[in-house]
Amino acid sequence: MYEKLIPDMIVESVHKIDLNLLKKKGITSLVLDIDNTLLPKKAKFLDEDTVEWLERAKNEGFKICLVSNNTKKRVNELKEKTGIPGIAWAIKPRKGAFKKALKLLGAKPHETALIGDQIFTDILGGKRVGLYTILVKPLSDEELAWTKIMRRAEKIILKRIEGYEN
Ligand SMILES: [Mg+2]
Repeated sequence: MYEKLIPDMIVESVHKIDLNLLKKKGITSLVLDIDNTLLPKKAKFLDEDTVEWLERAKNEGFKICLVSNNTKKRVNELKEKTGIPGIAWAIKPRKGAFKKALKLLGAKPHETALIGDQIFTDILGGKRVGLYTILVKPLSDEELAWTKIMRRAEKIILKRIEGYEN
């Protein structure tokens, strides 16, 4: 269980992900969390840098799917803006939505990287289906109480992981 909580890579933000390194690892597909990974939870619009990053990843040949525990409305807004398909009400860390995403991407787990800001939903869920997992720092701290509790537990774990500065 414990090892399923440790991400394969930890970065400051999506912008710091070395896409070439992912390619070298045989990764061709990306499963992306939305809230606090691509934009702050309360923000409605992606910033230009992130839109560009998504475009660059697409141009580099990566297939991309959004997987969010948020509503269909939220996922559709991003889909309209970026053209990237998404799955809402994912109930991460349950495996269903990730499996759905792999099917949609036509990708195998070992060819796919999960990118998200939370250990107990994104990383754990991704690991459970065998994805390469990348943890990013959350973009905002405005969270529901439940998430705050989860964060506390995450911090305890992160303290044990070398190289993570909070
Ligand atoms: Mg998130």
